[in-house]
Amino acid sequence: MTSSDTTATNLLGLPRPALEAFVAELGGKPFRARQLMNWVYKRGESSFERMTDLAKDFRSQLTARACVAPPQIVTAQASADGTRKWLLRADASQAFEMVFIPEPDRGTLCISSQVGCALDCSFCSTAQQGFNRNLTTAEIVGQVWLAQRELAAAGESGPCGVCAHEDVKRTGRLITNVVLMGMGEPLANFRNVVPALDIFLDDFGFDLSRRRVTLSTSGLVPQIYKLAEHSNVALAVSLHAPDDELRNELVPINRKHPIAELLEACWHYIDEQNGRSVTFEYVLLEGVNDSPAQARALARLLAGHPAKVNLIPFNPFPGTRYRRSAPEVVQRFRDELIRRGVLATVRRTRGDDIDAACGQLAGRVIDRTTVRLGSRVFAVAVQA
Ligand code: SAH
Repeated sequence: MTSSDTTATNLLGLPRPALEAFVAELGGKPFRARQLMNWVYKRGESSFERMTDLAKDFRSQLTARACVAPPQIVTAQASADGTRKWLLRADASQAFEMVFIPEPDRGTLCISSQVGCALDCSFCSTAQQGFNRNLTTAEIVGQVWLAQRELAAAGESGPCGVCAHEDVKRTGRLITNVVLMGMGEPLANFRNVVPALDIFLDDFGFDLSRRRVTLSTSGLVPQIYKLAEHSNVALAVSLHAPDDELRNELVPINRKHPIAELLEACWHYIDEQNGRSVTFEYVLLEGVNDSPAQARALARLLAGHPAKVNLIPFNPFPGTRYRRSAPEVVQRFRDELIRRGVLATVRRTRGDDIDAACGQLAGRVIDRTTVRLGSRVFAVAVQA
């Protein structure tokens, strides 16, 4: 059974209450839903026939009415540094990507929330492809389910492939962290993303701690307030500029929700969710946003607040007008922040030999013809 089978209910799209309702429809007791989740998420099982502690008729009913169907893999690539990237099928002609980044102490899976993106950030390659569609909850959850299965099948012994971290040894988990930093704007797909977060955190689902699931947003202010009511995952915000004039250019959603409003929403999220801090992502673009004066302006915005900054070296892609800041410029920017009491780290670039680094996920394996309409770029897919 595949995710294109529309008649069967894909269990990967159902958080626990919805699964309980589905099980009740089949005449099962609520605890059957927990048993099912155990099979699906803890054991990675997709065949109902193999779920041997479920009654035979219940299993046949499930086989007739339901499926556990992750997205299909179009291509799988491995980088020299151990990073893996999968291109996944959205439909006959569109694709989206997920990336696994192994590190000595953790295994991070970076997943997509949309096919393409509508937000048009000027330094991001996904923006060039335009927006195609929202991923379903099953497609979002299915990425983690599938990666877990693929990594186990590849015989990965721990996050870095050799040295299993304690947490991994204890739980046998290869994926310890999930970040919604792949293609798309997760808060623009709120309806499907929030149930997926529920499954990531559920004890009977992937059972990840809320600090190990990070949602990254370009700054959809009303949805940050809404998220505070529905979830408590870690929040990352793509800031990229210390003032509105520059941010309007780099992250156009800023024209609607300027920096002051965005920061208010962030502090509210932390208060409401009793969180530790918001991570502000800041991609360093040579001569654009990387001066010491800009670092000082950024520090003025964030010092004294529950904030940390993650500096991202720009990952170039064909046709971009931006360049990566030199390592000493990145270092100086970081030092300026730290001197002013703002915690700052530099993200190590991983997987750039397979275009798996931030902002390089463009689903470009499937042929595409791009059509320009005014200033927006739309991707019109053609069969590969
Ligand atoms: N839409 C979400 C998640 C997307 S990407 C968001 O905007 O936060 C995750 C991070 O990679 C974001 O901070 C994004 O701004 C950054 N990014 C995008 N393009 C990049 C590029 N070419 N080089 C480095 N980082 C980039």
